[in-house]
Amino acid sequence: MIITIASGKGGTGKTLISTSLALSLKDDYGVTLADCDVEEPNAGIFLKPQISGSESVDIMVPVVAEEKCTFCGKCAKVCAFNAIAVLGSHVLTFPQLCHGCGACSYLCPEKAITEEARHIGVVEWGDARGIKFIQGILTVGEAMAPPVISRVKEHESEQDIIIRDAPPGTSCPVVETVRGSDFCLLLTEPTPFGLNDLKLAVETVRELDIPFGVVINRTGAGDAGVENYCQEEKIHVLMTIPLDTEIARLYSRGVVLVEGMPEWKSRFIQLYNDIKEKVDA
Ligand code: SF4
Ligand code: SF4
Repeated sequence: MIITIASGKGGTGKTLISTSLALSLKDDYGVTLADCDVEEPNAGIFLKPQISGSESVDIMVPVVAEEKCTFCGKCAKVCAFNAIAVLGSHVLTFPQLCHGCGACSYLCPEKAITEEARHIGVVEWGDARGIKFIQGILTVGEAMAPPVISRVKEHESEQDIIIRDAPPGTSCPVVETVRGSDFCLLLTEPTPFGLNDLKLAVETVRELDIPFGVVINRTGAGDAGVENYCQEEKIHVLMTIPLDTEIARLYSRGVVLVEGMPEWKSRFIQLYNDIKEKVDA
C-alpha cells in the first residue's frame, strides 16, 4: 500500500502527518517512509535516522562535437525543453534545462552528440527506529526534482506500507511523487488560502485518478470554507488536528506528534484503517 501525503502549499504539516503515521504503524507492519520533498526534506529532522547508504543521482546531458556537426538543427527541433539551440555555426546546450531524455543524441544524423553525467542530487537510506527511511536531496540551485524523486521511489520496499512525503504544490515533482500511489492524503488548513490550494490539489489527484481524502490541520482558528467545500464535493475529511500550542511546541522542537502526545497514536492507526477500507473497497 502506497500512501502519499500531499498539500497544495508548504507549511501545512505534511511531515507531522507522515512521521506520526509511520511511527504509529511500525509496531504492526513493515513501514517505509520516503521523503520525496527533495528541495527541503525534513522528515529526517523528526525521525533522526541512522543513514546506512547513499548514491548520487545524475542525468545524462548532451555534449556536441562541433567538428562533426552540420548545424542541421534537428537536435534543437526535437528538444521539448529548449535545452539545446543551433545558432549559425554553433550549438549551444543549457544543461540546467536538460531532462536527460536522450532524444537529441539519438536523432543526430552525424552522431555529433555524446552524453556526460551531470550530478543533480543524492538519495540516502537507513533505519529510523524500525522504519525504513529514504530521502532525496536535490543539489541547491537545481530545478530537476523528478529524477531524484523517481530514484527515491526505486528504493521503496514493496512489501511495506509506503508513506511518501510529497513536495508542496501541484507541479511536476508532486505528480512524480503521487504517481503509482494507492491513496493520497491531502493536507490543508481552514483558511481561504488553504481552500484555494486544496482545490488545486484535488484537481491534480482527480486528473491522476488516485483515491484521496483530506486532513485539516489547525482547526478552530479559521473558517468553514474547507469543510463546506469537502461536503459539496463529497470528499471525506479523514482527520482534523486542532490548533494547539502543545502540538506547535512539539513540532518546533523536532518531536514527532505521536511521541510527544502518545494519545494520538490510536487516531493515526484509525486513519490508516480508514484509508485501507477505502483502498480495498
Ligand atoms: S542534430 Fe547533430 S548535426 Fe544537427 S545540429 Fe544537432 S548536433 Fe549538429
Ligand atoms: S537530452 Fe533531451 S532534454 Fe536534454 S537537450 Fe537533448 S533533447 Fe533536450
